[in-house]
Parts: sequence; C-alpha cells; structure tokens
Amino acid sequence: MITVKNQEQIDLMRVAGSIVAETLELLEAHAKPGISTKALDKIAHDYIISRGAKPSFLHYQGFPGTICASVDDVVVHGFPSDKPLEEGQILSIDCGAIFKGWHGDAARTIAIGKISPEKQKLIDVTKASFFEGIKGLKEGSRLGDIGSRIQTYAEKFGYGVVRDFVGHGIGRQMHEDPSVPNYGMAGTGLKLKSGNTIAIEPMINMGSHEVRINGWDHRTRDGLPSAHYENTVLITESGCEILTQVSPEGRAILTRKLEAE
Ligand code: MG
Ligand code: MG
Repeated sequence: MITVKNQEQIDLMRVAGSIVAETLELLEAHAKPGISTKALDKIAHDYIISRGAKPSFLHYQGFPGTICASVDDVVVHGFPSDKPLEEGQILSIDCGAIFKGWHGDAARTIAIGKISPEKQKLIDVTKASFFEGIKGLKEGSRLGDIGSRIQTYAEKFGYGVVRDFVGHGIGRQMHEDPSVPNYGMAGTGLKLKSGNTIAIEPMINMGSHEVRINGWDHRTRDGLPSAHYENTVLITESGCEILTQVSPEGRAILTRKLEAE
C-alpha cells in the first residue's frame, strides 16, 4: 500500500530527515584517511541517540551497523569495519533514523583525502542525477519520469545505473511501497500523489551496471567504483521537498557539536 502522510506526520519526518542530514555532515567532517568506518559508525550512533532518535539500520534484517559504509567498488550495504580508510578511496555512507516512529533515509558518497578526477566526476554526476530525477517532480508525476531522468543523465557519461537496488516509499516503515527504480521510461508507472514520501537513491557505477551479490556483499561486477546519493522526498501539489536536509534548529545543534570537538 502506498501511504499518504498528513501534516503532523510530515513534520515528524522532517525532524527525522534533519537528524539524518546532520549525521551525514558530521561524518563527512570526520571521514579522513586513517579513521575506520566502525569509528564513523559509533559517531553516527551516538549522535542520532543524542538527538532523541534511533538508528533505522541497526539490526534491520541483521545489519550490524548504524550506517552502511561502502568503499569504492562496494555498491551499497557495506558493514562498518575496523580497517582504516585510505587516501584516494571513496566512501558511500547511507544512514537512517527514526524519530517518534517516523523514518528519514539519505546517502552521500564522499572523498577520502585526495581522490582521482575520475572518482570525483562519478560522485558529482551521481549527485546531479538525483537532482535531474526530481526536476519537475510533483503530484501527478509518474515513477518512470524519475527513473528515466536519472538513467538518461547518468548514461550520458557512460556510467551504469544499478538495477539490483532501487529507491522506495518511506514513512512509518523504512521500506514501504512503491519501489522507485533509477531507470525506466517517462510517462509510465505509478502516478504520485501529494503526501507521498519516497526515498530516491541513484546508485551509479563507473562501468557496467552489473552487481555481484553475495549475501550482504554487493560489489560491482567489473570492480570499478560506485557512488550513491539519496534523499527522502515529499511530493506536493506544486513540486517536491527534500525532507533529509538540515533544519535551522539542527544546524545550531550540529555547529555547537563541531565547535566543541
Ligand atoms: Mg538509504
Ligand atoms: Mg533508501
């Protein structure tokens, strides 16, 4: 079932979304060569708890962390590990939080130290493909419109758009209907309504779109790097709103925290 959220529910999702966006900014400030993704995971866990929320991912279907930490050719769902990050790697961080029963979900790929221009371009195009995907998005848009825009944009650069994992509805559950593919045909698929909330999350590979799936281990088949960019998005009558962005209150809290470190 595809749910429509009311104003009160949307307000709670905005808080959850801000906490997720704050956490991602906090992690970005700490993600340097030498730190482990387990250390980043602890920072995320403690921050989410300090904000009165709960990590969505921890123990979800047995997942062991607060964040998914996917390095280089790992597409998504990487387990936080003790291995120190290295200069030149790219790290996709996916994070979710539950606030008063409502979820926020977002992901960013970031550079560890100095990275190659090729990797930077992959990160930039992946982020831009998300913003292409939400262009013109509003009540009455179809799911295929989003996927088609993302796919057309990313493939112009010769990149592969991952098929094995897709975006999703979100709300009281982290994963709700519908599935939101990052590929497809404009004018097809489900028609969106005002009050729908969906996580749009292009996963873009530098090479082929193919993924080798082995349990929780999800790597590109060709070994080339992959990037991820995700936000939780509210559909409205006149457009859409990104719910996973830092609120003014969240900005003040995060700034105080970073200054205290
Ligand atoms: Mg996510
Ligand atoms: Mg998601």
